[in-house]
Amino acid sequence: MGKRHKKFFLITTSAFFLFFIFIPEYMPRNEFPVFRVVIDPGHGGIKIQPRLKHGDRYDSVSGTYLDDYRPGAALTVRGNKIKEHNIAYSIGQKTLKILQYTAPGADFGKFERIAKKYGLLAKRINIISITSRPGGLSENPDTAQETGDVNGPYRIFDYPDSRGSMAYGRISKINSFKPHIVVSIHLAESAPSDYKAVNTILAPSFSHLLNGLYYLRGNKTGRSFFNNSYMKDWFVEDEARTPFSWFLSDISQYFTGYPLDENRKIIQNNFRGYRHNMIHWAYTDEPGWDKDAAVHAGYSRYSMNYKDVSPAGKFWDRERSVYESYRRDGGMEGFGGDNAYASYEIIRYILYSLKKNGRSADKLTQGKPYVSIWTLPIYLNAINAYFELGYLRRKTDRKIFLENQNEIAEGIAVGVYSLLAGIDMPKDDFTHMPKGKRIDLERYDVSSEKSYFDAVWDN
Ligand SMILES: [Zn+2]
Repeated sequence: MGKRHKKFFLITTSAFFLFFIFIPEYMPRNEFPVFRVVIDPGHGGIKIQPRLKHGDRYDSVSGTYLDDYRPGAALTVRGNKIKEHNIAYSIGQKTLKILQYTAPGADFGKFERIAKKYGLLAKRINIISITSRPGGLSENPDTAQETGDVNGPYRIFDYPDSRGSMAYGRISKINSFKPHIVVSIHLAESAPSDYKAVNTILAPSFSHLLNGLYYLRGNKTGRSFFNNSYMKDWFVEDEARTPFSWFLSDISQYFTGYPLDENRKIIQNNFRGYRHNMIHWAYTDEPGWDKDAAVHAGYSRYSMNYKDVSPAGKFWDRERSVYESYRRDGGMEGFGGDNAYASYEIIRYILYSLKKNGRSADKLTQGKPYVSIWTLPIYLNAINAYFELGYLRRKTDRKIFLENQNEIAEGIAVGVYSLLAGIDMPKDDFTHMPKGKRIDLERYDVSSEKSYFDAVWDN
């Protein structure tokens, strides 16, 4: 058993496709509890034209990509082009290297020696960990155009392959692995001054989003539901509009697929797709849905008008479920559910790791969230720790990304273990001390045999 698994791990980083198909069947009857984790470094593809061929966010209603591929942040410093996707991938690979000591049959003692610097490990567990993508492309638009569908392995959403059948994008691939935790690693070029590294990326629960719909429909007056919750940190696409204006636009988009302009008018030529139908999982609408959707009939689930849209079907049942509220509401941070706890806890472990390893992390802090209807935290069927590690334009951040990747990776790996098993943390006056508490995964059991995480694919 051990040897077999080791063999698989050698190919994980380069052959994700093979791996994700085989491993769920491969779950060993192990003496230790087994968990599945995906390390998901952002981006990796390139932005090239035409969008019709190289874009992302494929919409089968219109038969086209709705977006150009988003290659992530980049900044040229003294002639060197520093790229988000490379840094995220490098940190991801280093994290996997540490996590693989926790794999079935691996030398757990090696992991223990690293992690016991932080506190007392609760117990031995096995973690099967994989990456969500291969190493990124180094762009050269001219040659890339001639070499086929280069963005294939990096797309977020499903897409038509060369034979016209749908291939899995990153969300479908990740969900097919049925992970318990997905760690999405990003960094950005710059941020508003009130966003200090490191910032989480959170999607609110259905009940919070529903308040926005009620407000748009005039069934709710006053903005206290927004201003007095973590939703006040709503992501602003540009500063010409207030956070609340962007919030209302995103609410419309979440329920109908259509955003709103600053006067709350539906932007009819900017359809953003029915995202739950743009991936492969158990929560898509019935076959033939796209024919119904194409006419956007009023008073249906495909209406373009927030006033009469009627969210119905398996996806919206999922949104209303108690499991989604566990993932996205309340919890150990007081907001944002297990997604928020996992994100902040891993950030705390990163900061603690930098400190433990002699790197002053004074300038780094546990920052406020970017809140929006983000795709990954909603459509990944796992606890999603998702963060912007920092900002390329900030010199101190940049130095840490480039010089302290091992320390960051160690923080992430130990954090992942801690979320799954728990670490008894010592007393320490460090400001951003991790809590060390494991996530209550048992409450995601939908039956004695099946968890919510398993149910994503095969029911
Ligand atoms: Zn990014």
